[in-house]
Order: sequence, then C-alpha cells, then structure tokens
Amino acid sequence: MQISTTVVGKWTRSLVWILAAMLALPAAAAKLDEHSALIVVDMQNCFVDGGTLPVKGGRSIVPVINKLASQFDNVVLTQDWHTPKHASFASTYPGKKPYDTVELNYGTQVLWPDHCIQGSKDAELVSGLDIPKAQMIIRKGFHQNIDSYSAFMEADHKTPTGLKSYLKERGITKLYVVGLATDFCVAWTAMDGAKSGFEVAVIEDASKGIDLNGSLNSAWKSMQDAGVKRIQSSDIL
Ligand SMILES: [Zn+2]
Repeated sequence: MQISTTVVGKWTRSLVWILAAMLALPAAAAKLDEHSALIVVDMQNCFVDGGTLPVKGGRSIVPVINKLASQFDNVVLTQDWHTPKHASFASTYPGKKPYDTVELNYGTQVLWPDHCIQGSKDAELVSGLDIPKAQMIIRKGFHQNIDSYSAFMEADHKTPTGLKSYLKERGITKLYVVGLATDFCVAWTAMDGAKSGFEVAVIEDASKGIDLNGSLNSAWKSMQDAGVKRIQSSDIL
C-alpha cells in the first residue's frame, strides 16, 4: 500500500510538471515552412495618409510588414488597380457622394472617392515597403463594372483573379494575410482564402481597418465564422 501511494504521488508530480511545461510554451507560435505564404494586401499610396482613400495609420504598419516578410519564403502582393470612371467610384454616378451605395448587378456597392487608378503615382506600392523577394503581384478591380475587395474573387463572386490556382500549383497551404484595410480587402481575401481550402490567419497588428459604421467588428466576426484565425506579429517574430 505504502509503495503504491508513493508511485501515484510521483505520477501526479510528473503530470503537474508536464502541464506546467505545456503552459509555458508560446500559445499561438506559428510554424512557417515552404507551404506558408504571406499575402500583403493593397499597401499602396492611395490607402495611406496623403493618398486618395487613406486608412488612418495605414503607413504605420509598413515596418512590421517588412519584418514579417523577411521570415517567409513566399510572398504575394496585391494592388487595387482601377480604370478611370470605375463602377466603385462615387464620381461615376451623378448626384452620388463617397460612402453612398448603388445597386449593381452583383449586389450593393459602397461608393468610394476615386482611388488607385492604373498607372498613377497614387496606385504605386507605398514607399518604404521593402519586400524585394515578393514573387507575385495580383492586380484586382481592373474590370470597369466590377469591384474587387478580395484578392481571390471579384465582387460578383464569379470572376476569379487566378490567385487560388497560383498558390495551389506552388504547394502553398497556409496563408498569413496583412495590409489594408482589415475590414474590407484583408477580410474578403482571408475569407475567400478559407473558402478555397487554405488555412488562413490575419495578423492584426500588421493590418489597419477603415471602420465604416462598425464594419471592423463585424468583419472580425465574419472572419471568425469562416474559420480565419486572428493572430499578432509576435506569434511569428
Ligand atoms: Zn478600390
């Protein structure tokens, strides 16, 4: 009896030590490998201070994105790339103002100030973004009558950009999404990525939101429902 009590005591102590060791591990340490890709969404002049559709504090995430990019073998950049008089511009519709909406044949479209026009300085990648290793730039929103928040699928939910096939062909299975804006292009890209069968995480402190009428909270909720993880750059760096 005496022996058996000692053995049980030892086991209990070992178990406590194992549990303590497990708790000491970083909770969400992300393991990057050749199947991981960083997707840097719309880090362009148009979306930072001084641009045509600035996201407050947009420029402040450039250093953390550069640092993250150095840890990835695979990096994809996206650019919002509109034609003049694009269907998503308020100026295209007489009497409409930015942030009004219109009904297009694929649904309700929020109207924005003219932004990110093809070939303009405004549409260039933001200065200070230092990711020479980026292997692919996906340009989206170039169809005159269709907007595209997502890097995978245009807003009609029918027209693919080709990104899914590119990533699959390259054996990528895990996506880490950062950039502008959290509640629009980042969220739609992340959710379409999850829908396309990738494991997806959005890195919160490497993204910034617009927060139009509560859109930031509702985007996080939708992302969570779609199985997208919410992590911090410290989980990787
Ligand atoms: Zn746009």
